[in-house]
Amino acid sequence: MSEFDLIQRYFTRPAPNAILGVGDDAALLRVAEGMELAVSTDMLVSGTHFFPDADPFLLGHKTLAVNLSDLAAMGAVPRWATLALALPGADENWLRRLSEGFFALADEYGVELVGGDTTRGPLNLSVTIMGEVPRGRALRRSGANAGDDIWVSGTLGKAALGLAHLQGRFALPENARLSCLAALHQPRPRVALGLALRDIANSAIDISDGLLADLGHILECSQVGAEIAFAAIPAVETHGIDDALLRHCVLSGGDDYELCFTASAAKRSEIDAVAAKLQLPLTRIGSISAAQGCTVRAADGSVMKIKESGYDHFA
Ligand code: ADP
Ligand code: MG
Repeated sequence: MSEFDLIQRYFTRPAPNAILGVGDDAALLRVAEGMELAVSTDMLVSGTHFFPDADPFLLGHKTLAVNLSDLAAMGAVPRWATLALALPGADENWLRRLSEGFFALADEYGVELVGGDTTRGPLNLSVTIMGEVPRGRALRRSGANAGDDIWVSGTLGKAALGLAHLQGRFALPENARLSCLAALHQPRPRVALGLALRDIANSAIDISDGLLADLGHILECSQVGAEIAFAAIPAVETHGIDDALLRHCVLSGGDDYELCFTASAAKRSEIDAVAAKLQLPLTRIGSISAAQGCTVRAADGSVMKIKESGYDHFA
């Protein structure tokens, strides 16, 4: 199979919302009147982000999901994507499953694949996602104000617990295994939440590298600090997980793809209504302070000492 057959067979689909999709030197796109284009790239590298023998369908899903998550954090509507692939070879079965996983999620969110690049090399998948957001209304990391509540969606630490389980570092109890592995392999990007928060939140970020690391970006960009109540953070409910491991996964575990956002206390009932409408738990875990730095308090009020903050490829 030639490179062009491969692109034609597995990655060429109609793109009615593009002026021109796959097949020329560039795609042609038009953003609707009054909208801004939100653009983000996320790459998945074999051996770093996934095991070399990962299920290709799940890999296709996750490659797009992590990108959708970035648009969710901006409050943008996903519209188009490009996909750059380095492949060690052209395994047709593998490619078919990869594209099925990718397009299943793309169809769910109305995302059109409009281009990409395909080359031989160590397995690597890179998506650039593009979305639309009304002019001036994107959610940014830089908008947090002293006094804001800090919120997170869903449950934190599941993906990291799933990974620790697969690495044989401990055995996940039966009652938590499925949901932790699903969180790791098939993250659900919080796109609807990001859109609902546009006129509610002052700042937002998606949690890809761990709560403390990602909240840290909001704090830095907004020039503020935070007080977090550890007991308030929604963690997986199960017995038999070592306390230190659970704490590490909840505070510093990567790959959750939940949103962390801040909003004024006046917005609490609106946020509760969003949670009910989306059937997605939204939990208040602390507040933004004018003094910089992030303090995590245990249930007895004492300050918890935290060594590592999150995943860093170069630390
Ligand atoms: P060029 O040599 O001009 O860069 P390519 O031969 O790499 O073009 O690609 C041909 C067409 O196929 C282009 O429209 C490109 O965007 C698209 N394409 C290549 N690889 C992929 C892919 N993995 N997924 C989607 N579209 C792709
Ligand atoms: Mg060209």
